Amino acid sequence: VPRRRVLALKEAVLSWWATAKAERDWLPWRSTRDPWAVLVSEVMLAQTQAGRAASRFATLLSRFPEPASMARAPVGEVVALWNGLGYNRRAIWLHAAARRIVEQHAGTVPDRLNALMALSGVGTYTARAVLAFAFERPVAVVDTNVARVLARAVAGARLSAGHAQVWADRLLVVDQARAWNLALMDLGSLLCGPRPACDRCPLEQGLCVWRSAGSVLDPACGSAGTSRAQGRFVGSDRQGRGRLVRAAIEGPIAYAQLAEVAGWPEDPSRAERVAQGLLADGLLAKDDKGRLVLPG
Ligand code: SF4
Repeated sequence: VPRRRVLALKEAVLSWWATAKAERDWLPWRSTRDPWAVLVSEVMLAQTQAGRAASRFATLLSRFPEPASMARAPVGEVVALWNGLGYNRRAIWLHAAARRIVEQHAGTVPDRLNALMALSGVGTYTARAVLAFAFERPVAVVDTNVARVLARAVAGARLSAGHAQVWADRLLVVDQARAWNLALMDLGSLLCGPRPACDRCPLEQGLCVWRSAGSVLDPACGSAGTSRAQGRFVGSDRQGRGRLVRAAIEGPIAYAQLAEVAGWPEDPSRAERVAQGLLADGLLAKDDKGRLVLPG
């Protein structure tokens, strides 16, 4: 990509963002640089929509304002507070990450990529996001929104995860890394979504490779890191898992009630299989009467 085009693209994105950002500035993690708060928010955002994550963020942070308070709490309490955000295993991972931060980093979220990635549940995206948004380091962050923009506007082709990161690194505005990462994310979220609103996009006039080439065969489809449609929730195992965890928050579940509580009174073997999965994941435990309870 010619240097002049790259410069024009950066300028167009940043000047669009200067006003567009107001639409997402209310998100509570936008106003903090606290690494623990940023870590919690990024673990949430990995699989939960921003609106839903925002409402739970304050609750989690006021109960666990730093890693040490979460590390001290029983894991079941974190699971209970997480409930409703989906993919509850993230609560277990976050709890384990808090313990590791206390044991190995004196209670302070580390500021190195390798140390962050050694925390359970923290992958490349989350580690980079913490470095960029909390520590304001010049690292490029590729989430599902950025991956779409890179595939369409910059490469005009499907991208592997590795190539998307290479493009993101090349484009990074080093002296404004935090703003640049947020701007690209917001562009992907507000305009360049699964159904792009090109007519409102600052890159529409000759700065988007895919658009300039006539918008055929969307390269964002099938690019690594772009979100795929989730399977139906209703009637899924995930729904049964959610019901069991929710019930365990209220109190112990007797074995005889398992199928009914899971929502499958006609299919006790399915309820049993799903309960075994929750036990294996550490989201539920058994008490001395063999009932299912929250762990810890
Ligand atoms: S012009 Fe359309 S496809 Fe290209 S970056 Fe903008 S919204 Fe996305």
